[in-house]
Amino acid sequence: MRKFHQNRPSIYPFDPWKVVETEFNPVYNHRNEAIFSLGNGYIGLRGTFEEGVPTSIPSTPGSYINGFYETEPIVYGEYMAKQPTEYQTMVNIMDWKGLKILLDTEEFSMFSGTIEHYSRTLDLKDGVLRRQLTWTSPKGHCLEIKFERFISQANRHLAFLRCSVTPLNFSGLNILRSHVNGAVTNHHHLTKPALKVISTTLTNESGMLVSRTANSEMSVACAVTHRATPLTSIMGFTSATCLDFLARFEAKEGQMIRLEKFVALSSSRETAEEQLGNFVERLVLRSAENGYEWGKQNHVAFLKSYWDDTDVEITGDVALQQGLRFNALQLLQSTGRDGKTNIAAKGLSGEYYEGHYFWDTETYINPFFLYSQPSLVRRLLEYRYSILDAARLNAKRMRDQGALYSWRTINGHEASGNFLGSTVQYHINAAVAYSIHKYLEATDDIGFLVEMGAEILFETARCWAHRGVFLASRGGAYCINEVCGPDEYKPGVNNNCYTNYMAQFNLRLALEARDRLSKDYPKDYARLVQELGIDESEFALWQECADHMYLPFDNNLGIHPQDDSFVDKDPIDIDSLSPEEIPLVGNWHPLVIWRYQVIKQADVILLLFLLGDQFNLAEKKANFDYYEPKTTHDSSLSPAIYSIIAAEVGYHEFAYNYFLQTVRLDLDDYNRNAWQGLHTACMASSWMGVVNGFAGMRTYEGVLRFKPFVPQKWHSYRFKVKFRGTQLQVEVSAKGTSYRLLQGDACSFYHFSQPVTLRLGEELTLENSHV
Ligand code: BGC
Repeated sequence: MRKFHQNRPSIYPFDPWKVVETEFNPVYNHRNEAIFSLGNGYIGLRGTFEEGVPTSIPSTPGSYINGFYETEPIVYGEYMAKQPTEYQTMVNIMDWKGLKILLDTEEFSMFSGTIEHYSRTLDLKDGVLRRQLTWTSPKGHCLEIKFERFISQANRHLAFLRCSVTPLNFSGLNILRSHVNGAVTNHHHLTKPALKVISTTLTNESGMLVSRTANSEMSVACAVTHRATPLTSIMGFTSATCLDFLARFEAKEGQMIRLEKFVALSSSRETAEEQLGNFVERLVLRSAENGYEWGKQNHVAFLKSYWDDTDVEITGDVALQQGLRFNALQLLQSTGRDGKTNIAAKGLSGEYYEGHYFWDTETYINPFFLYSQPSLVRRLLEYRYSILDAARLNAKRMRDQGALYSWRTINGHEASGNFLGSTVQYHINAAVAYSIHKYLEATDDIGFLVEMGAEILFETARCWAHRGVFLASRGGAYCINEVCGPDEYKPGVNNNCYTNYMAQFNLRLALEARDRLSKDYPKDYARLVQELGIDESEFALWQECADHMYLPFDNNLGIHPQDDSFVDKDPIDIDSLSPEEIPLVGNWHPLVIWRYQVIKQADVILLLFLLGDQFNLAEKKANFDYYEPKTTHDSSLSPAIYSIIAAEVGYHEFAYNYFLQTVRLDLDDYNRNAWQGLHTACMASSWMGVVNGFAGMRTYEGVLRFKPFVPQKWHSYRFKVKFRGTQLQVEVSAKGTSYRLLQGDACSFYHFSQPVTLRLGEELTLENSHV
């Protein structure tokens, strides 16, 4: 039995719908900034306290707008031709959350006086962050303090913040001071401050600050206004880079005073620059007129509907329940929904990975959203369409044809200077194509195929058909050389098995799209092939490449070798590695890593999941047995995939242990790096662990299938799946699986090998075994 990384002790008390910090310890401030981050896919805000923290405390206060970036030239140690030239870095925008509590001569801080009855709670159901405490100042003034904030899920431009203070042992002057700070910089990556404040304006309790990036020439505007209870005058002040508002209260002992801060943000990415100011100003005034509670109701109503479709309920394990819900909320908070933005590897919870979008979206995040929020997946795929031209340029850069999606990007152009970790991963093209296929399979949104999907499939197929070579030495098979599969520890290899299979799938999807379009949408088809200049000979080439794709298999080992050289590399016992050496990527020279049979993350094993109907159970088992002892899981994208295949081949204990490594990765901070930002793909993979792993859900050829079991430690679990206009509820316990059709006239699927059809409202319980 392999050693599993030990899960860390839990940090926050287990609670099915809350993440609560019960004691304030500055040591954990940095991590908690990521855990308590809020967002709505457009605006993101780290969980830094409203009043800030002293400079001696590690902190990365961050407010972001998805897709709002600055560029800087990539500086290389040595010149190499055709390297990407510009970084794109998500910008830390103006800090709009500032709110301080001032007494006569004192100022509230978590780092002075005495704190009692402290709690900070992220309410997962409502998406609201609350902090409450009793503070006794160094001079003995005692206050009950409550902060609450949320970023509206209902209107992406709006954020809300409320501070309530009750003097407990005195009456006197209290000032609540609200602040918008435009003098901000990024904490990582950028060498120069990205934003310059170009204007600040003020009218009593309202104000606006507009900033602009130096190189990418994008603008962002933030408008704020305030409401005080009891009514009191609010005075605004402005400097070159800041807005300040003072609400002065003659507070009475036992009587609460309150300041509500309404915030509206927009950027020139979606609002014309000359209208930005007007736009946010109008929005914020309307928001304040409607009121804080109105804003909250709309926000909570949105989340209610989200949870209705998305929630996975587990009975028998509150820790995992909490983990899954935390992940599901954070994913929603991070995901762009406008067709122009996407989801960054760290979402909107931190600056690491610079706000870049990766293949993570198509391979991990889209599957999570697809069966509960299919329209969101459409938006994410629309983003890929919006950067197709940049992908065409990227292909040209590499002397390829068609389109090659950039490995790390915001605006579509490659933003990584390390080609061995980025450009070499051609498989991103297939990830996009695969995701389009899964989207169409689950929704039959033919409109998407006609308008955008087919063009992406054609251009990516074109790239594959140009990128490889028919090799006589391989019996004329079509080989793809010098790539890297998902396992980043093996770049520049020939015939990465995952890549070849996925490229073949991509080529076939393009040919199927041709068949469907030419038959059902001849005009659109004619226009598209004309625009792209595709003729019959090119389609024939795609067919030939797909039919003759080299699909590696090692007869001696009975496995699919990861690439042409993998099985001949130096063997290594990864259990003998010391914890200090893990992750290898952070500790060994790349050449050392490359020469060993050591795998960073699921590669062939991922293939067995994505194209599962092309491999039988014995093959899956043989590959799992071969690769599992060679995989370090140095990427958080890995364990869930091993869990899913382990579940499929009947290694239930492996499945459970690997699953455990994904669900609470950030909540328990296994890798001690949550402060950098949350691991969004890993979060999404925890959902896959339940639904694709334990419940064995697969969709092949448009047919839904389940092979469920319940992990020994749980009583039961329940989830919902939207598929082709229907919604099915699945509840699995040791007694059996109950299926209930919640939407749609009828839904047909397989329970193990048994075909089942349910009509609306019908419920059926079946045993969890092969029939
Ligand atoms: C993984 C990639 C992933 C990236 C961003 C890397 O460590 O190896 O597969 O795309 O992180 O999450």
